[in-house]
Amino acid sequence: MIYKKFQDLELSALGMGAMRLPVGKSYEDIDEAATEKMVAYAMENGVNYYDTAWGYHDGQSEIVMGRILGKYPKDSYYLATKFPGYDLSNMDKVEEIFEKQLEKCGTEYFDFYLFHNVCEMNIDAYLDPKYGIFDYLVKQKKNGRIRHLGFSAHGSCSVMKRFLDAYGEQMEFGQIQLNWLDWTFQDARGKVELLKEYHLPVWVMEPLRGGKLASLPEEPAKVLSDLRPDEDIPAWAFRFLQSLDGVTMILSGMSDFEQMQKNVKTFETEKTLDGKEMDALLGIADAMLKKSVLPCTGCRYCTSHCPKGLDIPALLELYNEHSFTEGGFIAPMALMAVPDEKKPSACVGCRSCEAVCPQQIKISEAMADFNKRLNG
Ligand code: SF4
Ligand code: SF4
Repeated sequence: MIYKKFQDLELSALGMGAMRLPVGKSYEDIDEAATEKMVAYAMENGVNYYDTAWGYHDGQSEIVMGRILGKYPKDSYYLATKFPGYDLSNMDKVEEIFEKQLEKCGTEYFDFYLFHNVCEMNIDAYLDPKYGIFDYLVKQKKNGRIRHLGFSAHGSCSVMKRFLDAYGEQMEFGQIQLNWLDWTFQDARGKVELLKEYHLPVWVMEPLRGGKLASLPEEPAKVLSDLRPDEDIPAWAFRFLQSLDGVTMILSGMSDFEQMQKNVKTFETEKTLDGKEMDALLGIADAMLKKSVLPCTGCRYCTSHCPKGLDIPALLELYNEHSFTEGGFIAPMALMAVPDEKKPSACVGCRSCEAVCPQQIKISEAMADFNKRLNG
């Protein structure tokens, strides 16, 4: 296992994410025996970081992970969980939730604790002193019930910057969605740079984009296998991350024992990509995106022509994300922070924007389709 230095700790470069554990009939019905077997294998092979959250598996992940990890000496692993600010109704319950989390996980302290999912929808609330979330968590850090405080983010760079400007001094790490496709698609590159500005190490989530990068069509797969015949497609995602400065922790939400075995094997050695390999991988990402997303360049020629004052490039970026993920949660979440009169539904189909778009994007059709998808 590769280890990365974080302050005075040696963290395994691979961490086990507990959001997609093996299940029985439903998402909350975690197969505890299968999970225990995965944890045992991870422990034997040097994985020492386990990441859960209040909401994973409808609340069951913290309980099951706490129960399983509780069988191991406390100093043999690090447990991370998060404050569930992705749900605004939790904002005034930080103390109640934190105490409950300790109880659920059967522990007296958390090694790592994060503000969960800083994004457009919750940034105002996270920054609002009336909820006292930051003050409460910093106090728990002072009294030893949180050893390391950080945050995870699905929001844009500007949202992350607002968060860091306010709380950056107390943050010790930042967790972002980072993989070879999102390097440009979700501006993960910009987010890595931003974390670097604040001297924060990078924690990675979604290294395989929910499994989407675990396989590729024949042609791009051949390009990669010609370059590295011994590496399978999922391993490329990890090799990409191993090649980036600042990446300390790579979390993978594994769902079965075979995935755990494969990932552990990949992390036996660090095999960074050379320039040619990096270009090939990012070239494949480019081609995948060109095929399936609208080519908006963000030039903003269109915006002054819109009678409704819509932020067309911002909406198209969300539309691209939503259609590429076939209905992921990021776009609806970001749109919660957009007033109704600026949402895709406000488009009247006048096509004034299309007349000036150098990319000839059919914006009115995209807005109508986006609206339809958002409303089921
Ligand atoms: S088609 Fe829609 S987005 Fe384009 S200018 Fe008209 S109202 Fe605005
Ligand atoms: S004019 Fe076209 S390419 Fe430019 S921001 Fe508007 S939609 Fe995007």
